[in-house]
Amino acid sequence: MALMTGEQYVESLRKLNLNVYMFGEKIENPVDNPVIRPSMNSVKMTYDLAQMPEYEDLMTTTSTLTGNKINRFGHIHSSTEDLIKKVKMQRLCGQKTAACFQRCVGMDAFNAEYSTTYEIDKAYGTDYHEKFKKYLKYVQENDLTVDGAMTDPKGDRGLSPSKQSDPDLYLRVVERRPDGVVVRGAKAHQTGICNSHEVLVMPTVAMRPEDKDYAISFAVPTDTEGIFMIVGRQSCDSRKLEAGADIDVGNKVFGGVEALTIFDDVFVPNERIFLDGETEFAGMLVERFAGYHRQSYGGCKVGVGDVLIGAAALAADYNGANKASHVKDKLIEMTHLNETLYACGIACSAEGYKTESGNYIIDLLLANVCKQNVTRFPYEIARLAEDIAGGIMVTMPSEKDYRNEKTGPYIEKYLKGIASVPTENRMRILRLIENITLGTAAVGYRTESMHGAGSPQAQRIMIARQGNLGHKKALAKAIARIKE
Ligand code: SF4
Ligand code: FE
Repeated sequence: MALMTGEQYVESLRKLNLNVYMFGEKIENPVDNPVIRPSMNSVKMTYDLAQMPEYEDLMTTTSTLTGNKINRFGHIHSSTEDLIKKVKMQRLCGQKTAACFQRCVGMDAFNAEYSTTYEIDKAYGTDYHEKFKKYLKYVQENDLTVDGAMTDPKGDRGLSPSKQSDPDLYLRVVERRPDGVVVRGAKAHQTGICNSHEVLVMPTVAMRPEDKDYAISFAVPTDTEGIFMIVGRQSCDSRKLEAGADIDVGNKVFGGVEALTIFDDVFVPNERIFLDGETEFAGMLVERFAGYHRQSYGGCKVGVGDVLIGAAALAADYNGANKASHVKDKLIEMTHLNETLYACGIACSAEGYKTESGNYIIDLLLANVCKQNVTRFPYEIARLAEDIAGGIMVTMPSEKDYRNEKTGPYIEKYLKGIASVPTENRMRILRLIENITLGTAAVGYRTESMHGAGSPQAQRIMIARQGNLGHKKALAKAIARIKE
């Protein structure tokens, strides 16, 4: 089976024996849990869209490993066109879910691992690249969702992994056996791990020789013994638990949840290890993964932005403010900002290049500029959306009051905008804006835009490194006719 349907994906998750905790309880059935289900629905969309003929070209491609048709989320990019299509696919998925659809982290990890393992083997004569290709074939052929896990808890940020007072604050090898290793540690902010079949672990920082046991990369099934997930609390998440909740949730069908994921002495077989102790390659893996994921945001956040701009425009239509020139101008500004992010995503893809292993990587400077803009523009887009929506977005009574016999008719009457639009539609669009700017989806659209794929300072370091100031100085000297 090279492509799963959305339904097959859901059924495949039911077969996993995941250890998930939330709100102080073990969740026996994460697939049907009302808080987790919307997150799963977002990943399901990556399978559903791949089945639709109109999206076939974006959502599917031919495997470079097997020649079979696969979902693009499992693809090794073999051209700049592939990189561009990846961004377009992510914009599409963002438009269809208005949430984080989670599957990109695995895709970005595959491409970073592919080129890095090749270069480690070249330096050390190891066989990581072949092992990784074998693993990826398995992922592609079974159309699996893989959580790419990078961020360690990091403890004292001023200390390297091996200098922490608690040695587990970065994930590490605690035991070596002939057939594999045992690892201990945690990965924070794991987007979509509760909806993933596999987890692909990478180090989170460049490492020094003394950090050898921390320079480990591997993949295991998410229900491997010793792995457990503690789902993160999100603003307004408990609205999903209210019986019959619909309008108040803002986005009833889709969402994205993250989890603190614990690796409590997890065994990893040798064939699933892709880096072990080659400390100088940890930085390369981190840099490449982060680069791909910074490109990703030029697609997914733009798709969510499209929904938010549309919602703000509808809010103005529904209250009759749509003709006001300042409202039109705000919508123009939102569009300008959103398309600037897209332009960055496309640009770093178009300027991509071939790595030694043969796959394609983005232009790292432009990918970091892309992500740096993502740390700012969604906030401004959200601010303008709130400006257009008006204060009623946060003071509006609940759906239960709207359905109540006594209060409902008053809400219907006094929250009406223009006469031709039902009050309920106005409430729905305002709640959607609330969801993206302040509610559960704000985790992805706002704070993840800041900190996901590395916090802003990480991009500034890369921009400094890639900016080639020396070349710019030489240009200035030439124009100014300075000889030395
Ligand atoms: Fe994909 Fe965006 Fe979610 Fe990252 S934040 S996994 S790029 S949808
Ligand atoms: Fe992310």
